[in-house]
Amino acid sequence: MQELHDAPLAPLTTFRLGGNAARLVTATTDDEVIAAVRAADASGTPLLIIGGGSNLVIGDKGFEGTALRIATRGFDLDGTALTLAAGENWSEAVARTVEAGLAGVECLAGIPGSAGATPIQNVGAYGQEVSATITEVIAFDRQADETVTLTNAECDFSYRHSRFKEHPDRYVVLRVRFALEDADGLSAPIKYPETARVLGVEAGDRVPAATARETVLKLRAGKGMVLDPEDHDTWSAGSFFTNPILTAEEYREFVDRVHERLGADVMPPAFPTGDGRTKTSAAWVIDKAGFTKGYGEGPARISTKHTLALTNRGAATTEDLLALAREVRDGVRAAFGVTLVNEPVMVGVGL
Ligand SMILES: Cc1cc2nc3c(=O)[nH]c(=O)nc-3n(C[C@H](O)[C@H](O)[C@H](O)COP(=O)(O)OP(=O)(O)OC[C@H]3O[C@@H](n4cnc5c(N)ncnc54)[C@H](O)[C@@H]3O)c2cc1C
Repeated sequence: MQELHDAPLAPLTTFRLGGNAARLVTATTDDEVIAAVRAADASGTPLLIIGGGSNLVIGDKGFEGTALRIATRGFDLDGTALTLAAGENWSEAVARTVEAGLAGVECLAGIPGSAGATPIQNVGAYGQEVSATITEVIAFDRQADETVTLTNAECDFSYRHSRFKEHPDRYVVLRVRFALEDADGLSAPIKYPETARVLGVEAGDRVPAATARETVLKLRAGKGMVLDPEDHDTWSAGSFFTNPILTAEEYREFVDRVHERLGADVMPPAFPTGDGRTKTSAAWVIDKAGFTKGYGEGPARISTKHTLALTNRGAATTEDLLALAREVRDGVRAAFGVTLVNEPVMVGVGL
């Protein structure tokens, strides 16, 4: 177990933002993770779990406590059952499942960060979410002071949410189990219209899993959604805001505001969620409120490749980023009456 004091956290995040941690511990085994968590809890020290730092906004003042970096390793494939240690690199793990000819997570290629963080916000992209393939999450329960195994149903997965996100100070994910599919080298049915269009297939068709993965990686790279240290458009947390989910009444009011502002023939993107509510597109409302690609004059700007990514152009502080995020949130609320909610986890700061 490695331990540093007054250690910079910015290099551990994809935003490259945030101050120092009073203490930074790197754990390479589950036992080390549990020991570090128990030690922090026993002394009443605040604890921040860090995987790949790709969904974290850390305040400029840093973190007055123990930051615990999960660096455990383990890729265990038994037939179609996959168990990943929390510290495994997610995108590399996806590539290995595709190489093994398995389907189920190929469209989640290119999502940065660790395997252990994937259940936290039920990561998803291009028609797949980890909740569709996760069978169990093995976690250290800080409240019960023991290692527990949670079934998929017990994880309470929903859009960018889970039991782990609901109780942020309770669980430390140690291992994640997935049930993949052996479809003779083919992908899971392609669900996302853009992927189907680029592949030249109908939604619901299957293609070679490797082709699906490569197509998604190309689409993502074009939007600055694959990490590239040379490209400031990727110094982000991916999508900064979640897609708003509106009740029937909220949706009606929203459509009225869209018509007032943009004309009666304009309809916003609308995806029924099956419970009477409607999901619309955060990227669309941001763009239509006037915050287009590249927006901003300062060191934090909207990505030149995707309206939904706020980025550090190199010299930003967390306060610069938050000022931009507040401007976008307030502008969208003034234009359409919809309040955007941040997707990344805030540490020591708020919008
Ligand atoms: C360029 C880019 C593209 C992205 N695209 C997508 C996308 O398409 N879809 C999507 O869903 N997300 C996307 N993201 C967001 C991010 O990659 C995911 O949320 C990812 O799962 C975060 O993993 P991480 O290891 O970096 O987590 P971190 O940023 O290190 O942590 C995020 C949160 O999870 C907690 N956490 C991390 N590990 C554990 C653990 N083992 N146990 C308990 N808590 C833990 C942290 O405390 C924190 O609260 C993108 C980010 C970037 C930078």
